[in-house]
Amino acid sequence: GEIAVETDVVIIGGGPGGYAAAIRLGQLGKSVVLIEKEEMGGVCLNRGCIPSKALIHAAGQYHQLSQLSSLGIHLPEGNAFFSMPDWKFWKSDVVKTLQKGVTQLCEANGVTIVKGNAIFLSSDRIGVETDGDFERFTFQHAIIATGSRPYIPSPLHTDGAVILDSTNVLQLDRVPESLAIIGGGYIGMEIGMAFAKLGTEVTIIEAAERILSQVSAHLTQDVVKHAKKLGMRIKTSSKVEAITVENGFARVMICSEKGDKEIIVHEKALITIGRIPNTNEIGLKQAGIDLDERGYIPVDQTGRTNQRHIFAIGDTTTGPALAHRAAKQGVVAAESIAGLPSSFDTPYVPYVIFTEPQIAGVGLTKEQAVERGYQVKSASFPYRGNGRAITTGAGNGFAEVIVDARTHMLLGMHIVGEDASNLIGEGVLALEMAARVEDLAWTIHAHPTLSEMWQEAAEGVLGHAIHML
Ligand code: FAD
Repeated sequence: GEIAVETDVVIIGGGPGGYAAAIRLGQLGKSVVLIEKEEMGGVCLNRGCIPSKALIHAAGQYHQLSQLSSLGIHLPEGNAFFSMPDWKFWKSDVVKTLQKGVTQLCEANGVTIVKGNAIFLSSDRIGVETDGDFERFTFQHAIIATGSRPYIPSPLHTDGAVILDSTNVLQLDRVPESLAIIGGGYIGMEIGMAFAKLGTEVTIIEAAERILSQVSAHLTQDVVKHAKKLGMRIKTSSKVEAITVENGFARVMICSEKGDKEIIVHEKALITIGRIPNTNEIGLKQAGIDLDERGYIPVDQTGRTNQRHIFAIGDTTTGPALAHRAAKQGVVAAESIAGLPSSFDTPYVPYVIFTEPQIAGVGLTKEQAVERGYQVKSASFPYRGNGRAITTGAGNGFAEVIVDARTHMLLGMHIVGEDASNLIGEGVLALEMAARVEDLAWTIHAHPTLSEMWQEAAEGVLGHAIHML
């Protein structure tokens, strides 16, 4: 209809940023309209974190079968196989369960969910193309949480059948015989390793000198080693010049730094080079909102854009494109709108890479700490020195603690190995609470658990680790 519905806050996008903001605003008594054109949960729940980790889990379980005999578990010969259609059935159940949960939480907090494509009409009006209709809302405040999409720079393109992006690859009907992955960042490495465990011949093609170039080199060495053990080929310093489809196969033309050309022919190609923000089709001009040259929306620590009543969060803003950052920004924006003192002012955003072994960290790396002029003390403790790790066959990797030698304040904690994704939680809390290395060393850690490695590494910094030679 012609008449606009009035609401306190309009949120565009129902991903981890948008729905967290919506729930928090509901708790704070605001009327909220959340507009989502696809499914609740955004990229993270529908085609990112959750489905990729569901694949990684299944691939890990499957791969584990071949190693069970060393534990005394013997399976009948030749019976194990992996069915992608069955996996997809399970995965969609996982996704639906979580979608339902997110939707229920929004509704329980009084959030009105509108399904449709939103576009700003002005700085206080928004239009939504719903099923055959066009609805209008006026708002006091708005939050832009439209997220991001895969970046496919020309002349590269995807066709959804042979040349894939991260969305398509998680929807395949069977495990490909071979897969060329363009981009050795965390998404490419996670998905590549999962398929390698399912039997796919995987080639990683990375333009930089090494894979996972966002994290320190010494943290990635065990992953490179394990990738090779799984039969993955890793081509670094290699640029992809073109990808074509011939006889149903992907032909990837690559050029090394020295100018050597090579053609790799695989059943599928996957492009995971990066992501770009969804900020070009939502009417930001009509709303008078500035963009930077890369399409991100500049914001302050509360998430305010140049239009002070309109906020932007998550992957539409610069910073690590991670669900937990989006969610925190969403809560901060909601609280700021409600007039509470709130701000995203922490540098302690953890990262996790779900490869085998996993890599996780928070705070500064050793190199960054030195660069910033700290006098650095650090120690690492190996998984092979930890009783729990030995009993679960997880002897690869280490936990590393980085400390300011002058004040003993923790500067960074990084971990490579089994369950690093969960173990980093202690590190985030320690850094967030401005712990000193003594706090970590004096804390009693349950035995036998992997968490003891943090204590040992901290004792190592202080020169008195019990289980270190
Ligand atoms: P999104 O999740 O992108 O949600 C935006 C929503 O807005 C979408 O649902 C979209 O449909 C909707 N929308 C957009 N435009 C409009 C419009 N005009 N009208 C209405 N609705 C609109 N992060 C992690 O932290 N851990 C991980 O392990 C992890 N793994 C990942 C694996 C993969 C394969 C990928 C692709 C990403 C992964 N990420 C991971 C990143 C994570 O998914 C994103 O950082 C996160 O989803 C960003 O949240 P968001 O709320 O900003 O936006």
